[in-house]
Amino acid sequence: MKKLSNLWNDTAERCGFILKSGEIVEVDNIAEDPKNEFEVSEADFEKYYANAVASWHSHTDDFSNLSLSDYYTFLSLPEWDHWIVSKYKSVKFSVKSECVILEEVVPHGDD
Ligand SMILES: [Zn+2]
Repeated sequence: MKKLSNLWNDTAERCGFILKSGEIVEVDNIAEDPKNEFEVSEADFEKYYANAVASWHSHTDDFSNLSLSDYYTFLSLPEWDHWIVSKYKSVKFSVKSECVILEEVVPHGDD
């Protein structure tokens, strides 16, 4: 099974979903500037939405904080957890009462 820590690289943000089964799937990042942002196609979103419990995307450095667009994306999907995978760790966010909350920090090697 794929691990989030193995999906990090320093050239482009990668993205996908975590399914109810625990499987991690990766989809294409269609953003214009994939080094600095991510965007999932509508087709991929619709394909996985019903079976997903979380989104994940990577950052190309060791910065695991939310970007502004991450913040709004996460808020728009409060039913999911949202993982950001950075160079050394993966961080899980959730949405409670319309606030984005940092839930868990998993150092790579521990996942
Ligand atoms: Zn991000």
